[in-house]
Amino acid sequence: TADSADACCAEPLPVLGRDVTVPLVTGGEVTYAALDYAASAPALQRVWDDVAAYAPYYGSVHRGAGYLSQLSTDLFEQSRVTVAEFLDCREGDQVVFTRSTTDSLNLLAQVVPADCQVFVFETEHHASLLPWRDTQVTYLNAPRTPAQAVETLERALADRDPHGPALVCVTGASNVTGELWPVRELAAAAHAHGARIVLDAAQLAPHHPVSVRELDVDWVAFSGHKLYAPFGSGVLAGRADWLQAAEPYLAGGGASRTVARRADGGVDVEWHTTAARHEAGSPNVIGVYSIASACKALTEAGFDSLVARERHLIDTVRAGLAEVPEVRVLSLFGDDAPRVGVISFVVDGWNSSHFAAALSAEYGIGVRDGLFCAHPLVRTLLGSDPQDPGECGAPEPAAPGERSLNAIRVSFGAGTPDEHVERFVGAV
Ligand code: PMP
Repeated sequence: TADSADACCAEPLPVLGRDVTVPLVTGGEVTYAALDYAASAPALQRVWDDVAAYAPYYGSVHRGAGYLSQLSTDLFEQSRVTVAEFLDCREGDQVVFTRSTTDSLNLLAQVVPADCQVFVFETEHHASLLPWRDTQVTYLNAPRTPAQAVETLERALADRDPHGPALVCVTGASNVTGELWPVRELAAAAHAHGARIVLDAAQLAPHHPVSVRELDVDWVAFSGHKLYAPFGSGVLAGRADWLQAAEPYLAGGGASRTVARRADGGVDVEWHTTAARHEAGSPNVIGVYSIASACKALTEAGFDSLVARERHLIDTVRAGLAEVPEVRVLSLFGDDAPRVGVISFVVDGWNSSHFAAALSAEYGIGVRDGLFCAHPLVRTLLGSDPQDPGECGAPEPAAPGERSLNAIRVSFGAGTPDEHVERFVGAV
């Protein structure tokens, strides 16, 4: 497209590791092509610079009267405001800092009302699929179009007991196919049936702006390490009521406002009613500050130009893969579905693990192989039985025409130069 042609002239954002060289089995060495952003993206140089500038002034958060403690506390709380702005949160929403998306969704699973019915598509990442197992959870079958996803959800919600609380958990962009899910429509369907919705934005937030208000989702979860801030923090942001009605996720200092011995020998606790309620223990201020720095850097770079540049990279990879008859790209919603820079495929006659190992050893390209923590989805896409636990990876190379048991995933983003995707296409 014209947009993608313009975008190819835009520079990638500077990231750490862009000059790292790795040895090749064929001799010599080559700069490493990190094409596994969907697992963990490299830190933006800007994030690293901000963290390095702050590190000498590191101090305890909410736990000290000294200057450096005050400074760290300010940076921590300002980061909360930056993240709320980045997500376009509503008045009254709370931003809770966690370790990761997995941690955020487990936190939410722990605070949902006891009689909450939860609805999740079987196509979700395990972090979205599994935390609800102690609730009344309904797993929805894989849809084959975005419209079918909305219909499937509407049908399931229409059948539920309309009086109790309900929650829908859905991904914004698939970590397997990169395809975008119709989040706004799913949110409207959820709300029309009195349910709430949490968005797993682990793969969406690094690639597209996420507006809580516009999408009208009740909560959003994402991870710093996929958003160019790999320092151990994540976010759960959204409605305060369920968060504040529940027991703290972790019991400890920081979550408690007052603690007193009781006459009978026990202890009485009054918990905070702010985000601190679920942030017991000394927080990871470096991780939190790095997320805020990444939010600012992406906002300043502008998602319009990031999206246009990524479109160009996606087009290059898809056009290259389309030229290799043995390659089959995995897709739930079809070729025309809008997507982010996450593409999974299998190669006829190849074991996917051996293929990924060859990309690394012979070309210095880092991709991922396997079932990508989304076993039911990948099995469906590979044509295996999604109910069969099966094997996670074939021990021997698949013979031509034999079904693969796992796949190869290439993923990229704001720091990816054209040369990396071109080298990848050439290598395939
Ligand atoms: N959801 C999706 C869609 C993901 O891709 C991932 C990570 N692969 C997660 C959740 C879990 O993220 P984390 O490992 O940072 O907890």
